[in-house]
Amino acid sequence: MPTVTGMKCACESCLCVVSLEDAIKKDGKLYCCEACANGHTSGETCGQSACSCCS
Ligand SMILES: [Zn+2]
Ligand SMILES: [Zn+2]
Ligand SMILES: [Zn+2]
Repeated sequence: MPTVTGMKCACESCLCVVSLEDAIKKDGKLYCCEACANGHTSGETCGQSACSCCS
């Protein structure tokens, strides 16, 4: 295993891996983007085209 420099986004269906530095922290969890941090309440997309968490 390579050295872990990131964590999976706390959004359950999000597969994005975020670095600890770039992550958006909310409620003690790490998210890859504002949309995930907000739970996609407004239907915002993740911003990562390869990600299917918000489709
Ligand atoms: Zn995502
Ligand atoms: Zn995410
Ligand atoms: Zn998400």
